Amino acid sequence: MAGINQNYNKLAAGYLFPEIARRTRGFQKKNPAKVLKKLGIGNTTEALTPAVIAGLTKGVNKLADPATYSGYGDEQGNMKLRQALSEYYESKGITLLPNDFFISDGAKPDSSNIQSIFSPDSVIAVQDPAYPVYVDSNVISGKSGNYSSKKGEYEGLIYMPCTEENNFFPALPDKKADLIYLCSPNNPTGAVATHKQLKIFVDYARENKSVIIFDAAYCEYISDPTLPRSIFEIEGAKKCALEINSLSKFAGFTGVRLGWTVVPEELIVEGTNPGEVRNLWNRRQCTFFNGASNIVQEGALAVFTEEGLKESGNLVNYYMENARIIRKGVESVGLTYYGGVNAPYVWIKTPEGISSWDFFDKLLSETGVIGTPGSGFGPGGEGYFRLSAFGHREEIEAAVESIKENLKI
Ligand code: PLP
Repeated sequence: MAGINQNYNKLAAGYLFPEIARRTRGFQKKNPAKVLKKLGIGNTTEALTPAVIAGLTKGVNKLADPATYSGYGDEQGNMKLRQALSEYYESKGITLLPNDFFISDGAKPDSSNIQSIFSPDSVIAVQDPAYPVYVDSNVISGKSGNYSSKKGEYEGLIYMPCTEENNFFPALPDKKADLIYLCSPNNPTGAVATHKQLKIFVDYARENKSVIIFDAAYCEYISDPTLPRSIFEIEGAKKCALEINSLSKFAGFTGVRLGWTVVPEELIVEGTNPGEVRNLWNRRQCTFFNGASNIVQEGALAVFTEEGLKESGNLVNYYMENARIIRKGVESVGLTYYGGVNAPYVWIKTPEGISSWDFFDKLLSETGVIGTPGSGFGPGGEGYFRLSAFGHREEIEAAVESIKENLKI
């Protein structure tokens, strides 16, 4: 008799964004005339740039001619793209081999699939709050105990609090962790780890034979040149870390889909030689994945040209101007906030005594602005609220105006 994977039943609640959508639908039904301003999901809104469109078009045209047509490609990705990524990292002073790059259809699938190559009894540590995929993928694969609604945590997982007091970057885990998820610039807090902070984790990982799973999906939003954009800027990281990234937020590929995971040859875990972890990810991808779309990979190659990089940089600047507008707006009404300087998220402290979800309902009903309750990212997010800088300028400005005029604090 077939049964279901019972771990799904452990999941605490519906995924955060469906719940936001449900509440929003309910509100809109009761208030059909109200114009909503969506600053909730971190979804890009601006058009793909001309260089990317030319790259994608080239990809389509290649398929129209038998002389250039290609079917299945390499599961690891087009070698030209892996080479381009290697050169791009090199331009930032980081040496990685093209073979260290595995092209995929995004950072979300990679960040949820990566745990599968490690031992089922691995102890998982996550920042709290965190992008929910790290926790949920480990719950589904059986690497956690049950959810405790009292604590808002899953048994067996290590939650590393990210608070105002530690500038939203955690102290080392208080128990031995095997897989440590770090995200910088951080979703949802907008905090960016320093070299010093990351070095402490790299040293810990090497001492404890742990692996850091570093999510750099927002690294292009760092404008401060003193802050690290990759874990591989940290000495020793190649031996204990892998990195996940994507073109979603850099070049507007949220719907196009293109990401990559870097598994350096040097990465080792208990009982492995250099190259073996990388081979395992290769085996995983070859078994479960048939490579990223050949059209999309042509589009991605265009991002790493001089023109493509310039245009993508302009896209990032556009969203960061949105972030500045949001920051100024929430500051002017007296709300305390963090982030939004080297990251496209503004992390607002909810007014005294108002929970994250209550603030969601209050903001929606008073201003028509949709944000994301901090508690949806883990118990440490309670009392906070995330506003996303991804949106058309007019919508961001309208949201800020409405907050200034209508929010009752
Ligand atoms: N990692 C983080 C931290 C994110 O916030 C997101 C999306 O919001 C992703 C990964 C997903 O990226 P992708 O679109 O490449 O799957």
